[in-house]
Amino acid sequence: MRGARSAMPTSNRGIRALAVALVLLATLAQARDTPLMLTRAEWGARAPTAAMQQHRPMRITIHHTATRAIAGRSLTEKLKSLQRFSQSRQRLADGRLKIAWADIPYHFYIDVAGSIGEGRDVRFVGDTNTRYDPSGHIGIVLEGNFEDTPPTPRQVEALVGLLVSLARKHGISPEAIAGHQHYAQTLCPGRHLAALMPDIRRDIERALAR
Ligand SMILES: [Zn+2]
Repeated sequence: MRGARSAMPTSNRGIRALAVALVLLATLAQARDTPLMLTRAEWGARAPTAAMQQHRPMRITIHHTATRAIAGRSLTEKLKSLQRFSQSRQRLADGRLKIAWADIPYHFYIDVAGSIGEGRDVRFVGDTNTRYDPSGHIGIVLEGNFEDTPPTPRQVEALVGLLVSLARKHGISPEAIAGHQHYAQTLCPGRHLAALMPDIRRDIERALAR
């Protein structure tokens, strides 16, 4: 009897240890799937300047900054400068006037080195200068003008990692991942990145199947 009583706690302990190990493994797997990113707090984001509309992310849309990549500037500086531009009225390159947005129009920014920065909170609809409704879209912008030059391998690698993580988190299928030009009259995200989209979608499909 004594032996039987002591056998129970031992097997309970075993089950508990197994449960702890499984939770640990799940946490590690999750950590592995979440790309490293500079958070808003880390880059010193200003608060949004106006109320934003909530949405449920259902697709992911990819953009380029359409500017020349600057290798020597930190991601923090780039995000601060993009936020300053976003939150003020600006004259665009084509002469149109851009209204002041509440925050950065994109949810994520990937610089030329492949570092990821957090933009607008994903729970809120982004903004655009083109004619399409960005609600339901998670916007990712990559630094560079991909009409002129291709994205760097590090940028593409970071993009794929981020896409896989977002697709998993929000239950978004690879077919719902596209370039900006899929929705609006624009060259964005540039022909070099647009040409990579089928490969990128295939990579994501493979990663999601694992
Ligand atoms: Zn765009």
